[in-house]
Amino acid sequence: MSEQKSSRKIGKVYLVGAGPGDPGLITVRGKYLLERAEVVVYDYLASPKLLKHVPEEAELIYAGKKGGVKHTHTQEEINQMLVDWAKEGKTVVRLKGGDPFIFGRGGEEVEVLAGTGVDFEVVPGVTSATAAATYAGIPITHREHTASVAFLTGHEDPTKPGSNIDWAKLATGAGTLVIYMGIKNLPIIVKNLVANGRDPKTPVAVVRWASTPEQRTVVGTLETIADIVREAAIKPPALIIVGDVVTLRDKIDWFEKRPLFGKRIVVTRTREQASELMAGLEENGANCLEYSTIKIEAVDSYEELDEELERIQEYHWILFTSLHGVRYFFDRLYGKGLDTRSLNGPGIAAVGKATADLLLKYGVRADLLPTVFTGEGLAETLLDQGVEGRNILIPRAEKAREILPETLRGAGAQVTVTPVYKNVAPEGKRVQLRDELEAGKVDMVTFTSSSTVRNFLGMVDAKDSSDLKRLMHNVVIAAIGPITAKTVTDNGLKVDIQPESYTIPDMVQEIVKHYT
Ligand code: SAH
Repeated sequence: MSEQKSSRKIGKVYLVGAGPGDPGLITVRGKYLLERAEVVVYDYLASPKLLKHVPEEAELIYAGKKGGVKHTHTQEEINQMLVDWAKEGKTVVRLKGGDPFIFGRGGEEVEVLAGTGVDFEVVPGVTSATAAATYAGIPITHREHTASVAFLTGHEDPTKPGSNIDWAKLATGAGTLVIYMGIKNLPIIVKNLVANGRDPKTPVAVVRWASTPEQRTVVGTLETIADIVREAAIKPPALIIVGDVVTLRDKIDWFEKRPLFGKRIVVTRTREQASELMAGLEENGANCLEYSTIKIEAVDSYEELDEELERIQEYHWILFTSLHGVRYFFDRLYGKGLDTRSLNGPGIAAVGKATADLLLKYGVRADLLPTVFTGEGLAETLLDQGVEGRNILIPRAEKAREILPETLRGAGAQVTVTPVYKNVAPEGKRVQLRDELEAGKVDMVTFTSSSTVRNFLGMVDAKDSSDLKRLMHNVVIAAIGPITAKTVTDNGLKVDIQPESYTIPDMVQEIVKHYT
């Protein structure tokens, strides 16, 4: 009996601060808990990018809560939901924007939990006030400017009697004021501060969507900021920072000054490959629009590869022309209970450095790497070695360019091409991409292979070449190498950026150069 009892899982609710927006600003503890969550209840201000940490089988519940917009769930419903899941024995993460205990109603949620005896833990987060200040280049305290800071809500109408905020004391009581939820009431707030003795010339910054690629900052004084915000049409979520420290932004604004800040760049790669390019671009401030044009899948049957693996010792060369080729080849090899020892006969060639690096991770050092990292380059380097009468295996995509096998065959080699994976273009995001292009919201499109070009064009689905030209009129095009570039020009478009060596870091560098 007691055994049964102890095996029953006890639920727990973790109230986790998601940080201000940049998904990198969650705590280590917060990420750890997301990775183990069975239920995640998240709201509007918590970055959706954090959800990638959550196990696939976990339940995701959007709790909404956007000022002015109808709430998806009432606070009572959310509280009840947390209690119910925990009582079912689930590990629940309640993910809240910024810090749960700073204007996040985290206190109320935890009070309810405590009242019902449900176990809970609270993980603090980077609150948007400090993030907004930091990412706008404003130190909220500074020895030469202020030694005190106050966080307040601007949600309450300051003129309403019985306000919880003592504006008369706060107006001059703290050197820096950071006001949450104050955009709607901004005109009344600034009037009130001045009426209570704050110098009308006090600098003020308003920061919207702080720490995200959409961040926008405007600066004025207590006298001018309300008009500036109205004219710039700044909407929530935004923070108001009042105090002399705002002047320091002129010197130390770093986030919005990064070379690619505000640039909307379409990244068209396979889902797994997209990360390296995106990381490089985002590091420089770009807003990456990820259109994973290709999905990689296993081929329907591995019969062909299996046969080749049986007679692998008969080959003089195995050529790996892509990362996926390596991955799927070795997964099958190991899957069959074999290992790298069965490859000790043939020479191994890789098309480029990344492919060679991946091979090494699988325990195989490439014997041959071309000087130019393309299929043609590889063919040329092999021809230099002499391929006549040689048996060559190329494990690769189901559909790929024929130039490499044809060149080798032309020189008298016996070439076997074995499909180990396939490229599939997904439907989903077509409409969205087209809309972004129509609205002129795309600054650049990046292509890292000919198939990304073809799939991109498939997604754009232009009526004809003049329609395509119109859509791409102001869009900069970056292509990783000459083959990809040729596919772009063959389709009537112009390539603006092409790195000298065909690697992702070089491509990122060229893109940065283009904008600086
Ligand atoms: N618990 C949250 C605050 C929630 S109240 C925290 O600690 O940050 C909601 C208000 O927070 C918004 O109206 C806005 O004033 C502010 N806010 C939250 N995220 C923001 C962001 N990324 N940029 C600017 N303001 C933000």
